[in-house]
Amino acid sequence: MLQPVGGMDMIVRAFDRVLGGMIRHNEEVVRIERVGEGARIISLDRSSGRRSALEADFVICTIPLSVLEHIPADFSPAVSHAISVGAKMYFPAVKVAFEAPRRWWETDQQLYGGISWTGRDITQIWYPSHGFHGEKGVLVGAYIWSHDPARRFTAMTPAERHAAAISDGERLHPGYERLVGPAVSVAWAKIPYSLGAWIEWETISGARQAEYPTLLAGDGPFYFAGEHMSYVTAWQEGAVQSAHYAVSEIAERVAATSK
Ligand SMILES: Cc1cc2nc3c(=O)[nH]c(=O)nc-3n(C[C@H](O)[C@H](O)[C@H](O)COP(=O)(O)OP(=O)(O)OC[C@H]3O[C@@H](n4cnc5c(N)ncnc54)[C@H](O)[C@@H]3O)c2cc1C
Repeated sequence: MLQPVGGMDMIVRAFDRVLGGMIRHNEEVVRIERVGEGARIISLDRSSGRRSALEADFVICTIPLSVLEHIPADFSPAVSHAISVGAKMYFPAVKVAFEAPRRWWETDQQLYGGISWTGRDITQIWYPSHGFHGEKGVLVGAYIWSHDPARRFTAMTPAERHAAAISDGERLHPGYERLVGPAVSVAWAKIPYSLGAWIEWETISGARQAEYPTLLAGDGPFYFAGEHMSYVTAWQEGAVQSAHYAVSEIAERVAATSK
């Protein structure tokens, strides 16, 4: 298992550092246009509210289909259709985490990292694999990846989710409510710019066979990448593989036209 020190954000921050200002932050793509053989991306600076445009020969679009569906774009009808089918297949994963004022799972129960699998809606409890015997700790009190429980937890308010996670956790750790402190939860279907955790192409029978190749082929100046454009969905590896694929497709095309 690989855990970036400081959290997943550290990967993005490292790219930002190495690319030296190339990445524009707080920039929301609000329109995708075709201009001749190329493309124009209209974006909104979320800090200043200013709109700007960027023209390019090629665009690799890595916006999740669940979000892309809502952005006006000059895609072909077949690609627009594939995007709207894909957008319906995002899984609504939910996580709940608790801060605990003391690391009782280590001191009282000799649990050092790892996961307890449960038959309840919370599905799992994860114990931190770092900071052993420190003062406080953060427990993942729910990581839900089955459809019905995920939908139930997504529909709840954060306070309801936290109470439900405590009630489920109580079955495994008696006195749980007193052992855990402040909670935070994420229901990915409700997170702007994600609107779902990851794609599950198998949700609609035949969708992978019918729609995925359309997106994979690209659309004029537009190529698509991201975990949804891979066979390793729900993993960073899939996103990276698909980016390599999109870049190599563009490279081949450019090489062929410049011969
Ligand atoms: C709960 C959970 C647990 C996971 N655990 C793991 C794990 O343990 N290991 C692992 O390898 N993977 C894990 N994954 C999967 C991994 O996070 C994804 O596969 C990966 O982040 C996908 O990368 P991506 O670039 O395709 O999409 P994203 O990481 O979603 O990136 C898309 C980006 O587009 C941006 N965006 C959206 N709309 C717009 C817009 N209009 N304008 C501009 N930008 C926009 C978003 O803000 C986001 O930054 C997990 C995912 C979830 C939800």
